[in-house]
Amino acid sequence: MASNTFSRQQTAQHGSAGVRTESSVTDPVLSLREVTKSFGDEIAVDGIDLDVERGELLTLLGPSGCGKTTTLRMIAGLEEPTAGEITLADASVAGNGSFTPPEKRDVGIVFQSFALFPHLTVSENIAFGLTDLDQDSIDERVTALLELVDLPSHGDKRPEQLSGGQKQRVALARSLAPEPELLLLDEPFSNLDVRLRVEMREEVRSILKEAGVTAVSVTHDQEEALSISDRVAVMNNGQVEQIGRPELVFEQPESRFVASFLGRASFLSSQLSGDSLETGIGTFDAKMLEGYNKQYDGIKVDVLVRPDDLRATTAIPEETNGRVVSRQYVGPSFIYRVDLDSGDTVHCLHNHAVNFAVEERVKVQLVADHSLAWYPQSD
Ligand code: ATP
Repeated sequence: MASNTFSRQQTAQHGSAGVRTESSVTDPVLSLREVTKSFGDEIAVDGIDLDVERGELLTLLGPSGCGKTTTLRMIAGLEEPTAGEITLADASVAGNGSFTPPEKRDVGIVFQSFALFPHLTVSENIAFGLTDLDQDSIDERVTALLELVDLPSHGDKRPEQLSGGQKQRVALARSLAPEPELLLLDEPFSNLDVRLRVEMREEVRSILKEAGVTAVSVTHDQEEALSISDRVAVMNNGQVEQIGRPELVFEQPESRFVASFLGRASFLSSQLSGDSLETGIGTFDAKMLEGYNKQYDGIKVDVLVRPDDLRATTAIPEETNGRVVSRQYVGPSFIYRVDLDSGDTVHCLHNHAVNFAVEERVKVQLVADHSLAWYPQSD
């Protein structure tokens, strides 16, 4: 059992941990080594290495079919790896010829559907897995959990009397009740409507942090992953393409796939020349590129630009460098798609008050005040 599950613990908070990278995991609760799962000829998970730090919330993020659910199921013990080893709390639970069944692993699962028992009250649902305790201890634990999930007066209600968000909090409380070493969350917000989803992200993160539990969640929603996680593992084709803090994977994606999956990405086809970066929207100091050094002089690169890195303005015809080809209204802002004369297509984010017509010629400028990710064109 995990210790101190209900006490407020010092855990790395999103954004403040700052330097947590895969190599800085010092006290892993869960480790995967070269874990592979094949279904017949199909390799669903392809040699994954992963460490999850005590108290951390790690999210597996990726498109449909990339292998994230299969990975979660192997951690839970619902699938057996074809190869590799899984270690949970210093004990091998799969690999090297051994396999620990799910009920013998100290793992809690929050299912997409919440899977509450409709005929039991909220308190009875939460107490369901507490078979080893006497009644007083059960009552004490249930009361503490009802407080933790902010439902202190809902213990006697039945699931049908609860809202979607309340049901989710009960499902969380029930999974936390036996103080599992590890909590798994399978697309935890997919059953909630859009408005509630955003609200519950913050709520769930704060409950998990208050409980101090180590957790792995799975989602294909990049905004959700970035907002709730301490670290995100971006998966593609059964492999982890990049793992790191949300800010790191978003701002310094190591591949075009990660760049494009995490939000809208455009690429400026560019030439490095001396200390200059020549692009279709002007020449810039090559030091703008993340990790640039002179050994890259002379090569062609693709520079990642997101819509908020660029701005379109009206200009005299000789100064324009592109043509607006479409515009998307997203409430407070417009995203303009611009075909540059250089051949690249980029997106520019503007306040809703800035109004360009489709076909209008504009001057696109770089307004990013951070270093830019880039990829050699031969990649
Ligand atoms: P989604 O977001 O759609 O759930 P995912 O990233 O979770 O996708 P998985 O469910 O892990 O992906 O599936 C990875 C691959 O393994 C897919 O191509 C899927 O068809 C295949 N797969 C998963 N489970 C099985 C199974 N029981 N039998 C055969 N193939 C499977």
